[in-house]
Formats: sequence, C-alpha cells, structure tokens
Amino acid sequence: MVYSITLLVFFLLTITPISYGNLQDFATCMSFHTTSTSSSVVHSQQSSSYAYLLQESQQNPRWLNSTSLLKPSFIVTPKTQNEIQGAILCAKKHGLQVRVMSGGHDYEGLSFLCKNPFIILDLVDYRSINIDIENETAWIQSGATIGEVYYNIAKKSNTLGFPAGLCPSVGVGGHFSGGGIGTMMRKYGLAADNIIDASFVDANGRILNRGEMGENVFWAIRGGGGASFGVISAWKVKLVRVPSLVTVFTIHKRLDQEGVKLVHNWQYIASKLPEGLFIRVLIQQIDGVDCQGNVKQAEVLSIHSS
Ligand SMILES: Cc1cc2nc3c(=O)[nH]c(=O)nc-3n(C[C@H](O)[C@H](O)[C@H](O)COP(=O)(O)OP(=O)(O)OC[C@H]3O[C@@H](n4cnc5c(N)ncnc54)[C@H](O)[C@@H]3O)c2cc1C
Repeated sequence: MVYSITLLVFFLLTITPISYGNLQDFATCMSFHTTSTSSSVVHSQQSSSYAYLLQESQQNPRWLNSTSLLKPSFIVTPKTQNEIQGAILCAKKHGLQVRVMSGGHDYEGLSFLCKNPFIILDLVDYRSINIDIENETAWIQSGATIGEVYYNIAKKSNTLGFPAGLCPSVGVGGHFSGGGIGTMMRKYGLAADNIIDASFVDANGRILNRGEMGENVFWAIRGGGGASFGVISAWKVKLVRVPSLVTVFTIHKRLDQEGVKLVHNWQYIASKLPEGLFIRVLIQQIDGVDCQGNVKQAEVLSIHSS
C-alpha cells in the first residue's frame, strides 16, 4: 500500500514538471527580454495557442499522438534575437531543458521530445529572409523553410539560387546544421558549404557572429548536427549562379522494362556526367524505378513534384 502511494506521488510529480508559481516566474523572467508582450511569445500549457502550436510544429507523425512522453512546460515563439537569448537564460534559471525547433522535420523528434522538463524554442515566428542581390548573399533566419528561401530568391532573380534540399517544408535551422544535400550538390556542394557567417546564441545566452564564435565553432555548426552547440538564429549564405532555364525529366521504368539494367548502367556513368546535370534514382517496390533529373538546375522544386 505504502509502496503504491509512493509510486503514485512519484508519478504525479513527474507529470507536473513545473508549478504555477514557476510558470509565473518564467513569464516574468521572459518579460525582461521581450519587446513583444510576453504572452504572445510564451505559451504555457494553459494557453489556448499551446495545443495548436504543438500540433502544427511537429512534422513527424510518428510522435504526434504519443502520450508516453513529456509535453513541454512552455512553447516559446521568439520574434527577436533577444527573445531567443531570454528563453535560453530563463530556461536555465528554472532548470528547464531547451529543445530548439525550426521546421520540425527531425526524424527522431529531437526538436520536440525530452525526458526531462523542458521548453520548446519554436522559431516559427523567426523566419525573415533578406536578399542582397548586388553582393549575391542573403541573411536567412532559422525558422524559414528552404521552400521560402528558394521562392524569395526567385522573386528577386532568375539567375541566382541556393543549393539545399528538395522538400520545401524542411526548416533552415535543422537542415543547414546537418549539411543539407540537394540537386545542386554536384556543382556547388552542400548548403553548409555555402554559409559564410551565422548568428549564434550559446548556452550562456551570448550572441556571437563568426568572428566572435571562432572558426572551430563556425566549422562545427555547419554539418555537426542541430542542437549540438547552441541555437543558430540566422545564417548568411552565398548565393550561387544558375541559368534562367532549367530542363527537368522523369524516366519511369518497371523491372520488366529493363529497370535493373538502367540502374546498373547509371552507376557506371553517374560520376562522369557534367556537374550541371543531377540525376537521382528512386527504387520503389510497387512502381519500379524512377530516374529524375535536371539539367543546369535553377528550380529544384519542380523535380520534387514531377
Ligand atoms: C520530408 C523530408 C524531406 C527531407 N529532404 C531532405 C533533403 O532533400 N536533403 C537533406 O539534406 N535533408 C533532407 N531531410 C532531412 C532534414 O534536412 C533534417 O531532418 C533536418 O534536420 C530538418 O530540419 P528542421 O529544421 O525541419 O527540423 P527540426 O526538427 O526543427 O530540427 C532538426 C534538429 O535540428 C535542431 N535545430 C533546429 N533548428 C535549430 C537551430 N536554429 N539551431 C540549432 N539547432 C537547431 C533541432 O533541435 C533538431 O535536433 C528531409 C527530411 C524530411 C522529413
């Protein structure tokens, strides 16, 4: 009996990670760092926006309805860099871990799951993209998606692009942190290879640029994996030159249409093809083999939807 009561008390303690008093304290702490009203940035479990944000931000259905995991004590949706800084400092002060989320596509749910009391730092409202056509660069806030990046560049220029992934809803924050492969990688490398500066908030809430963080940290945040070193709030990237015309094709072959031979031969010639040509092969159980490619790629999204 005593054992059961102890277990129940322990269970109740673990599912109530933060008391209302702490909730007030956290909001007060955040208000020192926020320019917007803190209620629009800090979403507690009592807020009407909480469930919506939790549902909307997670792009991996595997974890969506999981009841066995802790829910965040707060979701913080910063609009400024000071609010990102504030969330880190206030979480630290209140013993809460931080899960940072940009596009919410993490395969393992690392941007929204935690075994200990935590907050989600959701960059959904931190997503502006500033393109400098003259210098062929852009500053991109981490909450933007790569689709927004392509769209905004294309609005300003049809001869500039950026080499990153295919799925337009993937978030810049996690994608650039992990490298970022896509259809222009043969010619221009990974997204991470084209990053020239970043704005980085470390665990002590310091906001650092490339020179201040040092070349070792700058190297590590470009491919070392999201959430490993701190929060990258924005990235400065070098845009790449692309022709205004792109040719896209899809060749579909079933196994009984020499699909195996096609893949076999492709492996021998792929590395010898001009670097302006990208081909990817999808082998699917039901449909056979799809060869999708583009020549002189300027518009990566069209391949994805082909
Ligand atoms: C449908 C789909 C298509 C994909 N297509 C491609 C592709 O074409 N090419 C490719 O290379 N990859 C692709 N990926 C993989 C994708 O790049 C990674 O899953 C990436 O980490 C997702 O980033 P996110 O911001 O959307 O995810 P999130 O879940 O928000 O973040 C992923 C990880 O990065 C951390 N993180 C997020 N933002 C920040 C930040 N600002 N600072 C520090 N850490 C941060 C998170 O805490 C988490 O650990 C794809 C994934 C999916 C689900």
